[in-house]
Amino acid sequence: MACDLCPRNCKIEREQGQSGFCGMTHEVVVARVAPHFWEEPCLSGTKGSGTVIFSGCILRCVYCQNHKIAAGMSGKKLSVAELAEAFRSLERQV
Ligand code: SF4
Repeated sequence: MACDLCPRNCKIEREQGQSGFCGMTHEVVVARVAPHFWEEPCLSGTKGSGTVIFSGCILRCVYCQNHKIAAGMSGKKLSVAELAEAFRSLERQV
C-alpha cells in the first residue's frame, strides 16, 4: 500500500522494504519506552507519562536534539506484539 500516513505523502511501498522521507520501512523501530517525568506536569503527574519514542521523523529541524533517533540510526526493531506489550507495560507503570 502506498504510504500516505503523513503530509510528506511519499506513496512508497513500505511493506516492500522501501523507506520514504521519514527513513522508515514497515518495521517498527523504537528508541525508548519509559515513564517520562520532565515535561507537561499536567500529563506526567507523579508517576510519569507513558512515553514511546519511535525512530524516524518527517521533519528535518536544524536544531534537532535527537538526530540519531530522528534519522532512524538508533532504536530496536519490535514486532507488533512486542510493541503492544510495551504499551501495556507502560500502562501498568504510570
Ligand atoms: S514520510 Fe514516512 S510516514 Fe510520511 S508518507 Fe513518507 S513514508 Fe509515509
